[in-house]
Amino acid sequence: MGFFVSAREKTISAKEKEIDAKVESLLKKMTLKEKVGQMAQIDIATFIKRVDPKGPSWGPQAEPHTLDKDSLQKYIVDYGLSSMFNIGTHGYTVEEWFEFMKIIQDYAVNKTRLGIPILYGIDAIHGAALTIGSTVLPHQLGLASTWNPSLAEKAGEITAYEMRASNCPLNFGPGLDLGKHPLWSRLDETFGEDVLLSSTMAKQEVVGQEGFDNDISDKTKITTNLKHFIAYSFPFSGKDRTQVWIPEYYVREYFMPAFKECIDAGAHTVILNSGEINGIPLHSSKYWITDVLRGELGFKGVIMSDWRDIEKLWYFHHIASSYKEAIKIAIDAGIDLNMVPYDNQFMDLLIQLVNEGKISEARIDGSVRRILKLKYELGLFEHPYRDPKEYPDFGSEKFSRISKQSALESIILLKNSNNILPLSRNSKVLVTGPTANTMQALDGGWTYSWQGVLGDEYAKDKNTILRSIQNKIGKDNVVYIKGAGFNDANEIEKAVKASKEVDVIILCLGEAPYAETPGYIEDLYITDAQVDLAKALVATGKPIILVLSEGRPRLINKFEAGMKGIVLSFLPGNEGGDAFADVIFGDFNPNGKLPVTYPKYPNDLMNYDYKFCDLPDHNWGFNAYQPQFAFGFGLGYSSFEYSNLKIRKDTIHMDDNIEISVDIKNTGKVEGQEVVQLYIRDVFANLTPPMRRLRGFEKVGLKPGEQKTITFKLTVDNIKYVGTDNKWTTEEGDFEVYIEKLKGFFYLKK
Ligand code: BGC
Repeated sequence: MGFFVSAREKTISAKEKEIDAKVESLLKKMTLKEKVGQMAQIDIATFIKRVDPKGPSWGPQAEPHTLDKDSLQKYIVDYGLSSMFNIGTHGYTVEEWFEFMKIIQDYAVNKTRLGIPILYGIDAIHGAALTIGSTVLPHQLGLASTWNPSLAEKAGEITAYEMRASNCPLNFGPGLDLGKHPLWSRLDETFGEDVLLSSTMAKQEVVGQEGFDNDISDKTKITTNLKHFIAYSFPFSGKDRTQVWIPEYYVREYFMPAFKECIDAGAHTVILNSGEINGIPLHSSKYWITDVLRGELGFKGVIMSDWRDIEKLWYFHHIASSYKEAIKIAIDAGIDLNMVPYDNQFMDLLIQLVNEGKISEARIDGSVRRILKLKYELGLFEHPYRDPKEYPDFGSEKFSRISKQSALESIILLKNSNNILPLSRNSKVLVTGPTANTMQALDGGWTYSWQGVLGDEYAKDKNTILRSIQNKIGKDNVVYIKGAGFNDANEIEKAVKASKEVDVIILCLGEAPYAETPGYIEDLYITDAQVDLAKALVATGKPIILVLSEGRPRLINKFEAGMKGIVLSFLPGNEGGDAFADVIFGDFNPNGKLPVTYPKYPNDLMNYDYKFCDLPDHNWGFNAYQPQFAFGFGLGYSSFEYSNLKIRKDTIHMDDNIEISVDIKNTGKVEGQEVVQLYIRDVFANLTPPMRRLRGFEKVGLKPGEQKTITFKLTVDNIKYVGTDNKWTTEEGDFEVYIEKLKGFFYLKK
C-alpha cells in the first residue's frame, strides 16, 4: 500500500545499487575502443569457419559449423565486442550451444583485458524454437487466438527456461506490433489487431520471460526485447519495411499502449522499427527514441537497432550520405546497441566520430552503462554460460503438455454446418492437401531456421495432421493423397478418385513457412493450386472439413460455401497435429476466437474497429463490413446464452468506476469455455469515433447448464482516445455497450 517496502523490493534495490557501483568502476577502466565495442552486436555468420575460405558461411559448404578463432580474436579480443546473435543456416542443440558458448565466453572473459562477457541473442518468438529439441509453441497469433493470458505467461516461462538452457539470455521478442494488415508477412508474429488483446497477451509474455519481479539473474529467466518500436506493422503496401503513413495520434492510441504496458512491466530492452513512419526512419528519430521512448515512457533499459538499420539510413533510406553520417544520426537519436551485423566498420567509424569531437564520450558512456548493467543483471559476469544439464525440463513432456494446451485453445472453429463436427471415430476419411503431412505448415518461420524449412527433419518425432488423425482413428480408416502442393496441382484427380472410398474429406490447406521478406505476397487469396484442389473436391459432393494452418488469413471465398466445417489455427506449433485431431474428433471442445478479422475479398481489408464512414455499401445500405469471419468470432461444441447486461450507473463521472456485468449460461450438452467480449462505442467524439472498441474480455469455463456472472471493472481511462493534440482525452456524452447481442448505454459526465 505504499508504506512498506517488501523484502523483495529491498533486496532488488540494494542489488541495483551494487550493480550500478560495479558498472561505474568498470566504465572508469575502459578505453574508448572498449566502450565502442560494447555498442556492437555481430551475427554468428561472421564467426562460422568457412570450410572453403572463399565460400559462404551458410549452406552445405559451411558444415559442420565450427567457430573461427581468427574472427573471435579480432572481434571479441581486439575490438571488445559486446554481443553476438542469430544462428547459422540451422539451429543448434543445447549441447552444441554449450560448446559454442564455452569458446565464445572464454575469449570474452579470459582473453580480454576486462573480462566482459558476451550477450547472446536469438529470436525465440514461439518458444526457443531455433534450438533443436526445444518446445515449439504456437506463434503469437495462435496464442492470441486463445484469448487466454495465462497461456501467454506460461509460454513466456517455457521460452525463458529453454533460452537459458541454450545459453542465449537475450530474446528478440515478444512482438508488440499490432496486426492490422493481413498481407504483412509478420502478422503471425503479432497478437492480432486489437490493442487491448495484444497488450494483455504481450505483458503476460514479458512477465513469463522476465519473471514477476524482473530478476533476470535467475537462471530460468531472460531479458525480453520489445519489438519493433514503433508502428512497424502497418505498411501501406502490406510489404515489410515499406512506407508507413500514420498520424501521430493514431500511433499513440494504437501502437504505443503495448509498449507502455510492457515497459511498466519492467522489460529490459527494446528493438527499433526497421522502417520509416511518415517519411522518417525510426533509427534516425531522436523524437521517438529519446523524447518518447526514454522520456515519456520512462524506458531505462537498452535500446537496440534492428538488422543493419543504422547503415541503412545511408544506403536504403537515403537520409545520410555516408555510413559515418548515418552512425552520427543514429547515436544522436539515442541508440545504444547496433545490430551491425557483419563487420568492424561501425566500431571504427564511431571511434572516429568521438575523436573528431562529433559525438561526446559522455554520450557513449550513457549507452555503455546501460549495456553493462544489463549484463550484470543477467548474472553473466558470475555465469557466462551454464551447463544444459542444469535444465532437465528442456524439451520435456511437461512443457509439451502446455504447448498442446495452447495449441488446442488456439484452434478456432469457424464453421460447423449441421453440427458435422466432431466427426465420429468410425468415419473413413480422406486426408489431403499440402499442409496435411508436413510439420513446416504447423510451425511456420523462425523454427529450427529463419525460414522454418527444416521442421520435417528436426521435428520428425512429432505428429503432422495426417499422423495425428491416423493415430486417432487408426490407419485403416485414413486414405492419404497429397492432392496438391502449394503451387502445383498434380494429384487432384487422384484425390478426387480416392474421395469415392470415404465418408468425409479432411482438406488441409494454408501456407508454406516464411519469415520477413521471403513472406511477401501480392495476392491474399490462398494459392491457385489449393483453390483448384478445393473446387475439385467440392464437385465430388462428399462432405469436406477444411483445416487451415497459416500465418495470416488467406482468402477462401472461392470455395468456402462448399465446406461443411472449417477449423483454423495460426501456426499451432509442434503439438498442432494432435490438437487438430482432438478437435476434429471431439476430444476437445474448441474455444479459440479470431484475433484478427478474416477478410473475404482482397480489396476489402477493414479491421473490426471501422468507422461509420466505412459502412456505406453499393446498395445504398450501411453493410460494408462483410468479412468472411469477424474479429472475435469462433464457435464451439456447446452453446452459450447471454442475458442480464447491467451497467451499475447510467451516468458516469470522470473519476467513477464503470462496472458492467453480464450473465452467461452454457445451454449446450458439453462443458466448454467461452470468451466474454466487452465492446464500447463512444457515440460522438471530436475525432471520428470507431463503431466499437474491445474494452474487456474474460475466458470463462462452464459445465452444461451452469451460469456465471462476469463483471468488468473499468475506469474512464479505459475508454479514452488520443486527440489530434496527441493527448488522451474524452468528452461528455453517450456511450454504447455491447456484449454479444446485448446492448446497454451510459452517459459520461464531466
Ligand atoms: C528482424 C528482427 C529480428 C532480427 C534478428 C531482423 O531482420 O526484423 O525482428 O529480431 O532480424 O534476427
